[in-house]
Amino acid sequence: MSIITKNVTKIYGKQKALNNVTVEIKTGEIVGFIGPNGAGKSTMMKIITGFIPQTSGEVSVDGYDVVEQSMQVRQQIGYLPENNPLYLDMYVKEYLEYVAGLYNLKNKTAPRIKEMLDRTGLVDEQNKKIGALSKGFKQRVGLAQAMIHNPNVLILDEPTSGLDPNQIVEIRNLISEVGKEKTVMLSTHIMQEVEAICQRIIIINKGNIVANDYTQNIQTQTNENFQTIIVEFNKEIKAKQLEAIKGIVKVIKIKNNNWLVQSSIDDDVRTNIFDFAVKNKIVVLSMQKKEKSLEDVFQELTK
Ligand code: ADP
Ligand code: MG
Repeated sequence: MSIITKNVTKIYGKQKALNNVTVEIKTGEIVGFIGPNGAGKSTMMKIITGFIPQTSGEVSVDGYDVVEQSMQVRQQIGYLPENNPLYLDMYVKEYLEYVAGLYNLKNKTAPRIKEMLDRTGLVDEQNKKIGALSKGFKQRVGLAQAMIHNPNVLILDEPTSGLDPNQIVEIRNLISEVGKEKTVMLSTHIMQEVEAICQRIIIINKGNIVANDYTQNIQTQTNENFQTIIVEFNKEIKAKQLEAIKGIVKVIKIKNNNWLVQSSIDDDVRTNIFDFAVKNKIVVLSMQKKEKSLEDVFQELTK
C-alpha cells in the first residue's frame, strides 16, 4: 500500500504550489509531512486522494494511478481533510451511516459503524448532533468517517490542529494505534507531533521537499559541520580569548560568564576549552554539548 509521487508539480494560476515533488511512502509507515503554512502540504494530500489533479507528474497508491484509476485509489484511502468538514446538523451515527452509503458498504454498514464507534471512543456520543460535540470529539468523528471502509492508507491533514493539549494526546494515541496496521501520512506544523508518532519525516518548504528521512536521522542531517557547546566559567573573560582557541569558529556571549561556542565537529573542542581554562587559571563550572532539536532543524530548512 505504498504511495509514490514522481516529479509532481501543481500550479494554481500563476502560483506554483508544488515543484517536482518525488517521494515514496512505504507500506505500514507512519510518515509526518511537515512544513510552514502555505508550503504545499494540503495540495499534496488533495492530489494523492484524487480531490484535485496535479499539473504534471505521476502519483500512485498501491500501484493505482490517482488520475486514471481514481475509484480504486479512493477505495484504498481514508482522508481527513484540513479543518475536518462535517455536517453539523447530522447525528454522529447517522453521519457514519451516510458515509458508509457513499462507500457502498451495504450489509457491512452496521458492523463497521459499531467498530468505528468503539475504536474512536464515540459509543456514548453516537446519538448526539455533531454540532454539539467538542472539537476533540468532532475530530474523532472525522477519523471514524476516514476509516469506515477499512482503507489501508490514511491521509490526515493537520489532524490535531485547534485541539487542547489533552485532546491532542488522545488523538495522537488514536493515530498511533490505527497506524500499526495502516500506511499513514499526516501533515502538521508541530514538531513534537512527528517526534511522537512518526517513523519518518518529509519536510516541505515552498513546494520543495527539503528533507526526507527517518526521524532520528533528520536531526543530524543539517549543518553537520558544527558542534555547539555552552560553557560557563567562574570569571569574566573576553570573546577574543575564546576565539583564539583551536577549533572554535564562532563565539556568542549568552550572559555573564556563560558562552555559546561553535566549532567544526572534527576536533572535539571541549578538550581545548578545558586546557585553555587550566592554563589561564579559570574554572569551568559547566560545559555541555547542545543537541539540535527537530525544531531547530525545521527552522534551518524552512526559513
Ligand atoms: P499548506 O497546506 O502547506 O499550508 P497549501 O497546499 O494549502 O499549503 O497551499 C500551498 C500554496 O498554494 C499556498 O501558497 C496557497 O496560497 C496556494 N493555494 C492553495 N490552494 C489554492 C487555490 N485553490 N488557488 C490558488 N492558490 C492556492
Ligand atoms: Mg494545509
